[in-house]
Amino acid sequence: MSTPTILWFRRDLRLIDHPALAAALAEGPVLPLYVIDPFFERASARRRAVLAAMLDGLRSATGGALVVRRGDPAEVVAHLAAEIGASRVHVTREHTPYGHRRDAVVAERLRADGRRLIGTGSNLLVEPGTVIKDDGTPYAVFTPFRRRWREHLGAAPLIEAPSDPDWIDGVDEDVAVDGATWPWADAVDALPDDPVAVDTDTAAALVRWRRFVATGLDRYADRRNDPADAGTSMMSTALRFGLVHAARLLADLDPSDEQHQSFESELGWRDFYADVLRRRPDSAWANLDRRLDGIVVDTDAAARDRFDRWRSGTTGFEIVDAGMRQLLTTGWMHNRVRMITASFLVKDLHLPWQWGARHFMDQLVDGDLASNNHGWQWAAGTGTDAAPYFRVFNPVAQAERWDPDGEYRARWISELGTAQYPAPMVDHAAERAEALRRYEAARQA
Ligand code: FAD
Repeated sequence: MSTPTILWFRRDLRLIDHPALAAALAEGPVLPLYVIDPFFERASARRRAVLAAMLDGLRSATGGALVVRRGDPAEVVAHLAAEIGASRVHVTREHTPYGHRRDAVVAERLRADGRRLIGTGSNLLVEPGTVIKDDGTPYAVFTPFRRRWREHLGAAPLIEAPSDPDWIDGVDEDVAVDGATWPWADAVDALPDDPVAVDTDTAAALVRWRRFVATGLDRYADRRNDPADAGTSMMSTALRFGLVHAARLLADLDPSDEQHQSFESELGWRDFYADVLRRRPDSAWANLDRRLDGIVVDTDAAARDRFDRWRSGTTGFEIVDAGMRQLLTTGWMHNRVRMITASFLVKDLHLPWQWGARHFMDQLVDGDLASNNHGWQWAAGTGTDAAPYFRVFNPVAQAERWDPDGEYRARWISELGTAQYPAPMVDHAAERAEALRRYEAARQA
């Protein structure tokens, strides 16, 4: 029997490799829906602008059938299901703290009307909670997690885009996705000046991926730490919004090739942090290791001033400033430099990692709560790492090692080498000692 259903898109803005969409289409005609949730108003203008552009892309891909409505998801979805007589609403399962809570509420609301929310697949390679030790407990550090995680890979099937999908057409929407009526008028112009890491539809993201497979994948492990080089895939934004599924990338990797394995491992980090956050939703903004809550951080007016210099890329530490300027201009920053700038904020400036994480979430087009905030906690030594507090990146040594010719720094700091460029704002050796002193004091306490 053919019955109408809804496919409610969230972090899966694509038609290929979409098990939930396939499940919906198997039941009958499908209404493709996106709900603009008032909760998203908290997201940065940049990411809302990216989302707006991607919804335009998805609208085209669905031949204009996509319906975008604004409001409380439980109400919007329930009303629309009643409107078209759908007894089932299909989604890709979500595991962020908010997504999980929201879906529980929507499922309950639908159930009260005699309808069901059906979750199929997720935007990860292995769903949170799956990778556990023999005794059923979760992994606290990445390397053993990854070993076990690999045993679960390969389950996500690749699915071609539906050739002639039976979209339900003609349903009114009260939100049009163009600048005039878009409720985030402020966001439409908020794309970064140079949005190099943004694709607005699946086709463009796949072109980016194929280019990387042809030119970067075979030397990924060798080049991934070189910020001047286009040595990484820059697929993070497409993965964040689900223009592509990581399974599509995984399928192109040769598991026996070391360079490819290194790329696979990075996809593993993505799953690992999602797993940690699912298990410990409190760790989004609080230390995963609560024993370190006693570390003294600075939050006074002088600390604010230091924060402003970090944000604007005027610390006088070239690699830090180059990274912060790359972030402001493009909404993306190379991973090595994310680690260096994060370490600098925490260990050289003694500021709360949460300040830095919030700024990154404001500026990054690939901003993802799990990867970002646990990336920050890794740098701060409060997260998943085993022996963290000895690791204080020396920003000068890091620059010499990873940007030996200064190409990356020169690209982002136009006034480098002139009197306009500031002197280093702190003495790294002294601040390193101070950071270690503060950590030691917290550990003793
Ligand atoms: P590639 O090197 O090509 O890696 C391929 C994919 O693997 C990435 O697209 C990403 O999905 C995943 N990946 C790679 N490294 C990591 C990692 N360390 N942790 C988790 N996933 C990873 N990544 C985000 O997607 N969103 C964020 O908000 C984010 N914030 C970060 C904040 C800090 C302080 C740090 C240290 C890292 C952060 N990362 C974040 C991880 C990493 O820096 C980016 O995923 C990567 O730089 C994206 O570039 P790429 O697509 O070229 O990566």
